[in-house]
Amino acid sequence: MRAHAGSPGTALYISGGTILVHAGATIDTAVDLCAIGARGVSTEPDGTIVIGACTPVAELARSGEAAVAAGGILSRAAHGVANHTIRNLATVGGNLVAWHFPTDLPPVFLALDAVMRVHTSDGAKDVTLDAFYTRRREVFRRGDLITGVRVPSSSALRGAFHKVGRKRLDVAIASAAAVVNASDGGAPDVRLALGGLRVAPLRARDAESYLTENGLDAATIRKAAVIAVDAASPRGDRRATADYRRAAAVAAAVRVLTEAAGLEG
Ligand SMILES: Cc1cc2nc3c(=O)[nH]c(=O)nc-3n(C[C@H](O)[C@H](O)[C@H](O)COP(=O)(O)OP(=O)(O)OC[C@H]3O[C@@H](n4cnc5c(N)ncnc54)[C@H](O)[C@@H]3O)c2cc1C
Repeated sequence: MRAHAGSPGTALYISGGTILVHAGATIDTAVDLCAIGARGVSTEPDGTIVIGACTPVAELARSGEAAVAAGGILSRAAHGVANHTIRNLATVGGNLVAWHFPTDLPPVFLALDAVMRVHTSDGAKDVTLDAFYTRRREVFRRGDLITGVRVPSSSALRGAFHKVGRKRLDVAIASAAAVVNASDGGAPDVRLALGGLRVAPLRARDAESYLTENGLDAATIRKAAVIAVDAASPRGDRRATADYRRAAAVAAAVRVLTEAAGLEG
C-alpha cells in the first residue's frame, strides 16, 4: 500500500479523495481512511481544541468550537479553501498531508502550535506540525495515518491568515498565518508561518525572535516579514516567478502580523 500517488497499479489511501482529480488515472484501488470515523470538533476542559482528521474542511469552517481559536483564524482559513464542493469533500487530515499542493491549513496549524495524533504500526504517537514539515521522513512513515489534530488553548490570542492566489479556486502562490499574544504588556509572543514558498510550509523562527526582541510596529513588522521570506528562499514555478512569490509573501506576512497585532487602520 502506498500513501502517495504513483505509477499505474498503485493503491492509495484517501480521505476526501480530492487528490483523485489529479492522480485518478494512475490509481487502481482507493482505500477509504475515513471508515475509521475520526470526524468532528470538540473542546477539552483546558481549552484544547480536538479536530478529527476526517472532519471535512466545510465542517471546520462552520464549527463554533474551532471559531474560538485565536479570534477565528481557523474558521476563516477553512472558509477560504477552494469552493463549497471541494470544502465538503476535502478533510483536515488530507489538507495537512497533501503537501505537493501548497494547501491553506498547514501554516495556520503551524502558527497555532498544533500537534497531530498519528497512528503507526507500533501504536499511536503525537507529532508536532513543525516536526511533520521539517523532519517528515523521520516522524511519519509510509502507511502512518493522522487521526486528529490538537490545537492548544488559544482563545486569548489574536490570529490572522492571508493567501495570495491567482484566483479563488487555486492553491496559494504564497500564504501567511500569524498568531500574537501582546495582551500582558511584556515582550510579545509572536508566531509566524508561511506557505506556498517551497515544498513544505514553515515557521519563521528568526522573524519571530526579531519581533519578540524589538516589539511590534510598522517598521519592525516590515523587517520581520523580509527576514522570514529571505530565510524561506521562495521558488519559481508555473504559478509565479520567484520574485513575484517573494513580493507576495512579504505583503502577506506584513498583513497578517499587522492584523494579529491589532495595528491595522
Ligand atoms: C480544484 C481544486 C482546488 C483546490 N483549491 C484549494 C484551495 O484553495 N486551498 C487548499 O487548501 N486546497 C485546495 N485544494 C487541495 C485540496 O484542499 C486538497 O486536495 C485536500 O485538502 C486534500 O484532502 P482530502 O481529504 O481530499 O485528501 P485525499 O485526496 O483523500 O488524500 C490526499 C493525500 O493525503 C493522504 N491522506 C489523506 N488523509 C490522510 C490521513 N488522515 N492520514 C494520512 N494520510 C492521509 C492520502 O493518502 C493522499 O496521499 C484544491 C484541490 C482541487 C482539486
